[in-house]
Amino acid sequence: MGRVYNFSAGPAVLPEEVLKEAAAEMLDYNGSGMSVMEMSHRSKVYDEIIKTAEKDLRDLMNIPDNYKVLFLQGGASQQFAMIPMNLMKNKKAAYIVTGQWAKKAYQEAGKYGEAIKVASSEDKTFSYIPDCSDLDIPEDVDYVYICENNTIYGTKYKELPNTKGKTLVADVSSCFLSEPVDVTKYGVIYGGVQKNVGPAGMVIVIIREDLITEDVLPGTPTMLTYKTHADADSLYNTPPCYNIYICGKVFKWLKKMGGLEKMKELNEKKAKILYDFLDESKLFRGTVVPKDRSLMNVPFVTGNEELDAKFVKAAKAAGFENLKGHRTVGGMRASIYNAMPIEGVEKLVEFMRKFEEENS
Ligand SMILES: *Cc1c(COP(=O)(O)O)cnc(C)c1O
Repeated sequence: MGRVYNFSAGPAVLPEEVLKEAAAEMLDYNGSGMSVMEMSHRSKVYDEIIKTAEKDLRDLMNIPDNYKVLFLQGGASQQFAMIPMNLMKNKKAAYIVTGQWAKKAYQEAGKYGEAIKVASSEDKTFSYIPDCSDLDIPEDVDYVYICENNTIYGTKYKELPNTKGKTLVADVSSCFLSEPVDVTKYGVIYGGVQKNVGPAGMVIVIIREDLITEDVLPGTPTMLTYKTHADADSLYNTPPCYNIYICGKVFKWLKKMGGLEKMKELNEKKAKILYDFLDESKLFRGTVVPKDRSLMNVPFVTGNEELDAKFVKAAKAAGFENLKGHRTVGGMRASIYNAMPIEGVEKLVEFMRKFEEENS
């Protein structure tokens, strides 16, 4: 069997070109006589890989010089603790809870200080983004935290919250590099890479330099202190070498594709195909308030659990994998990250149309 259309929310589809390149370089990277997995992270060859990856990411996102880029282990979830440990100087932070990931971050922060839920969309199963234009944000919070794209529920902030001048911290795991961002609006942007960029187990943290200090909560481990990694250019200990290498290849691929403006255009086009169909369908419907719809994760239902299960099964048999919704919400979800080709979405819609005809 060849490659399927993989709609997984993460780990997720990667550009085929990148996988082929990595396969070709598996035994001998660039004349080094070894795989990138086998080489010293202190070698000249590897230094070039990590430096180039950082440079390409800086180019893609237009990251200003006063921000550090960190390639760290522990996935996105480790940041749920690392952020309060490093940033909670006043032991107080504001959290906007728009889904499971934001909720987990909020609960974790509560272990280290006072985490204040300033808004939530839990009342309607996280199907919308609350109005964040004039929230009651206490004067002494250290930061305001958001999950910018909610992977499970399929919502995305179309406008950043008004933080009343406080530092904005954002988990962008599932919208990373899907469209241009203005980095200067954030204190910290971070994302687990397995959603849109590379292999699982790594997180990229983009952090403004003034937030990197030795003044962290007492007991913060060396490995969980941003300064440790910032001072060592992500080479304090052995970094996730192979992941960084693959991410670097994805950055090159994105540049070749035309950068983030172009990705946004493509992602909007792909998402529109699916949302337009959901809006006209008599069987399927999207579960998110239209104005807050994500370009990356598209949840939908038929309204009948048995029919949902039948659809997921039939889709799988037809080569459309991982369309089952998150275990906490049911239904279906199509994740259509950067590397999902437009044909994948077109063919899925064609399949859904046929399924609808046969089941109504
Ligand atoms: C997947 C995901 C996470 C968790 O990532 P891990 O790398 O598994 O820790 C956190 N936040 C968001 C938005 C996610 O989509």
